[in-house]
Order: sequence, then C-alpha cells, then structure tokens
Amino acid sequence: MLEDKSHSPKVYEISPTLKFLSSCLPIPGYEDFIGTYLFCGEKKALVDVGPKAAIPGLLLALSQVGVSPDEIDYIILSHIHIDHAGGVGTAVREMNNARVLVHSRGRAHLIDPTALWKSSQETLGKAALKYGSYDPVPGDRIILAEEGMKLDLGQGLILEIYLTPGHAAHHLIVFNRASGILLAGDSAGVYTNGFLRLTTPPQFRLDDYMASLDKMIALRPVKLGYAHFGCYDNAIERLHAIREKVFLWHKIAQSAVREGKTAEEIIQLIRAKDKTLDRLDTLDKDTYGREYLLLLNSVQGLMTAK
Ligand SMILES: [Zn+2]
Repeated sequence: MLEDKSHSPKVYEISPTLKFLSSCLPIPGYEDFIGTYLFCGEKKALVDVGPKAAIPGLLLALSQVGVSPDEIDYIILSHIHIDHAGGVGTAVREMNNARVLVHSRGRAHLIDPTALWKSSQETLGKAALKYGSYDPVPGDRIILAEEGMKLDLGQGLILEIYLTPGHAAHHLIVFNRASGILLAGDSAGVYTNGFLRLTTPPQFRLDDYMASLDKMIALRPVKLGYAHFGCYDNAIERLHAIREKVFLWHKIAQSAVREGKTAEEIIQLIRAKDKTLDRLDTLDKDTYGREYLLLLNSVQGLMTAK
C-alpha cells in the first residue's frame, strides 16, 4: 500500500466481504496511518474507528461505498487506545444501530473516558490533542467480548473474536476463518512505509504478547490486517517476523537499561542490529516525526517490560 498524501478518504477492497477504509486523518504525517476495516454481510461491522478527528473522513468513506451510518450493526474495538477508539463515542451518535464490542476491561473507560483521555495526553503529548478527546459511549450500547465468541453477520460471514493481551491488556483480534483473514489490531506490530516496527508501549508484557502471537499463528491465517496500515499476504511469516523482532529489541533494551542507557540511546543500539529501521531515513519530516515518537514509546515499553 503506497503512501498517498491527498486528503480524501480511500477505500481498499480486501475481499468480497471486507474493505479497508482510510479516513485520511487531517494531521501531517498521519494521513495514511490509521484505518478502519468494514465487513459486509447482511449485517455490517467496523473494526476500529480511529480517533475523533478521523470520524468525518470515516463517514465520507462509508458514503463512498454506499453504506449509511445506520447500517452499521457492530463497532468492534481491537483495543481502547485513542488511535483506534478515540472516536467511538462520536461515531455511535451517528451510527444509531451500532453496538460496540470491547474487552471487558475497556467498558468502564468508554462510559467515562476521563482517565483514558488523561493517559493519552501523557503518552502522546500534542499528538493526542490533534487526535481529539473521547466522547462517552452509553453503557447500553456496549457488549463485552469473550474468548472465541462468534459474530454471525449473515450470508455465511462469521467473525471470531480472540483476546490477545500484550500490546495492551484490553486487546482483541478478529478472525474470519472462511477467508483466513486475521485483523490483528496492534497485536502484530505496525507495518507502514514498507517496514515492520514494534508496538510495545509502556505496560507492555512480553509473555502475554508472545502467547498472543502464538495464538494467532495457531489460527493459521492467510492474510494479516494491520490497523497501521493495511492487509497483506504471508500472515504466518509476518507473525514469525514480529516475534523475532520483539525478542531482539527486548533483549537489547533490557541489557541497555542495566547499563543506564536512555531510550534515545537504545534506539541507536537497535538500529545498529535491525537494519530494517534504515527505512526511517527515507521518510519525510512529518512521517519521521510520527515514527520516532512511536518508536520512542515502544522502546520505553521494552525498557519497563514485565
Ligand atoms: Zn495503534
């Protein structure tokens, strides 16, 4: 998927029943970074909606594919971080029939997002303000995700939900067994601008993350959909690749912490061992700024990993 700096939403056809919508966030460097998956059976389900700033673009993308907001039956949240779920309270006001499927740990935070908004600002600084704050979600619109639950969208389209802690304790993935498409949210890293990067923010838990990767590998997916950004073939190879990368980066970060190194110094140490990060030098200033911020965040997670 190529970087496109135009400011109109884009639609990618993944399969006859799945589209990937880029709301084209109006933030320099973030235009092609956050996407929403749309499953269409008799019922329709979105996977992630992006932050509040993405909702106008998401609504436009839906109108481009001929889907009205009231046709959305489910909004499945891979997790409640702001770049995936910040706009959900805003979205449910437009999508009158949508129910929000979220990990049980996320429910109270969606109803009262005060703490989520505070932690988003602490983690992301100015970027959180650009994303916009969370609107609350009414409790009666929320359904809780359970391990292995199935959502039947009709016309043979069945989505399976699996809990995948690691990136966050409240993370889940969506698997369509018939097509072999697995939507990994942030459980399998980020693949943008032609390179794979970790998503291991503070509160990252190594054992949980690896167990979640093993769970995804055991599903034998064919295609892997990243929230950031797009759906690709060779799912199993991709899951193994992120597994190795997490081990490598974690090892470097943990030994560097013992030597008193800073997160910035650890990024240099990782770059010396992982040449895929040379791609960073090819990015434009805004995209580099985004990637460096998130890289720093991931390294901080590895430094404090349990
Ligand atoms: Zn994310």
